[in-house]
Amino acid sequence: MRKPITDLIHHPYQPPAHFAAPQPGVHRASTVFFADVAAMRGRDWKTKAGYTYGLHGTPTTFTLEERLATLEGGTACLLVPSGLTALALVAFALLKTGDEVLIPNNAYGPNKALAAGELANFGITHRLYDPMEPDDLVAKLNARTRLVWLEAAGSVTMEFPDLPALTAICRAHGVVSALDNTWGAGLAFNPFDFDGSGQGVDISAHALTKYPSGGGDVLMGSVTTRDDRLHNALKLTHMRMGFGVGANDAELLLRSLPSIALRYAAHDRSARTLARWFASRDEIAQVLHPAIEGSPGHAHWRRLCAAPSSAAAGGEAGEQGLAAGLFSVVFDERFSADDVDRFCDSLKLFRLGYSWGGPVSLVVPYDVGLMRDAAVSRWPHRGTLVRFSVGLEAVEDLQDDLEQALSGL
Ligand SMILES: *Cc1c(COP(=O)(O)O)cnc(C)c1O
Repeated sequence: MRKPITDLIHHPYQPPAHFAAPQPGVHRASTVFFADVAAMRGRDWKTKAGYTYGLHGTPTTFTLEERLATLEGGTACLLVPSGLTALALVAFALLKTGDEVLIPNNAYGPNKALAAGELANFGITHRLYDPMEPDDLVAKLNARTRLVWLEAAGSVTMEFPDLPALTAICRAHGVVSALDNTWGAGLAFNPFDFDGSGQGVDISAHALTKYPSGGGDVLMGSVTTRDDRLHNALKLTHMRMGFGVGANDAELLLRSLPSIALRYAAHDRSARTLARWFASRDEIAQVLHPAIEGSPGHAHWRRLCAAPSSAAAGGEAGEQGLAAGLFSVVFDERFSADDVDRFCDSLKLFRLGYSWGGPVSLVVPYDVGLMRDAAVSRWPHRGTLVRFSVGLEAVEDLQDDLEQALSGL
């Protein structure tokens, strides 16, 4: 069977007559004309059989949705204006007053903030669970739980949970599981089919802002499913909230997608090189990278992302497996937070900036208090955590940059 990355590149689309070019055209519209009143009344905006209004989709956005569904192993996909909107769409579509949502304690921060803000205002409660303890998820599920968020690896602290175990618990309790799949990007593992047996999550939300864009210049998100009923619920909310996306942003993503597997593998290679190098440095107490031995959840990463049965799009990585180009280090506690700020300030190639997945390497220092109190239960470290997003520069140059900044400490 062909790999999804090949199908992604050879994905069918209908070019204008005698103009079969490598990339699909870019269509912009608010208004779409109808031939007559009967056609206007008869058009069903919930299906892709036709076009109704630009907000509900154009040939450009439908093509991108179909390609993303192919990449992630789903059957239907919706585009939204950012990764955070993807998380919000899932919540707004599935939760109502009185419901509860469970979120991993190491989840992407704004997902927790959305739950503590708007969802709480709507009478929807949330609780954090420890994703590294499946029993904790079991203990926190109750009759009001309607949605369980998953993230692999966890934002910032990079623990890799036992996704098959967590989704099996959700399935056994009849609760929808939704994965923030930005890290895996449809490449490190197949979110809808972990091992070829069809077991996976119900929903995959993805910040296309990261690897699908690859440029640090687009904001977009997607929500993908294999389940028609869930897709229809998401589609209705998408429609009612007006979460459409712009054609030019969709064009940039269509341009970047064919190279995603190559870029992802290149980011991965360099990140592992640098993470291993950090592990040999005595300034560093802990390297947090799921593909590096000794990192929390490494065995779970290995089983999901480096198994021969991996059904993921880019699955040619074999034994090596695949991981995003993202890792964190915890500095030895002899270095103060100010020292670590100075380390970050003295980096020249690594730029200070949020987000990841682009060509430029990025660095963010995190507050250790935040780690201990909010992000991860039983966080064992006292030193400051720094997260790196490794770009596409020559890895030797990146290592030299890290070395000169460390030696300045
Ligand atoms: C960046 C990110 C998001 C949000 O994406 P935006 O497009 O910046 O809103 C969500 N989840 C994870 C894990 C992310 O890294």
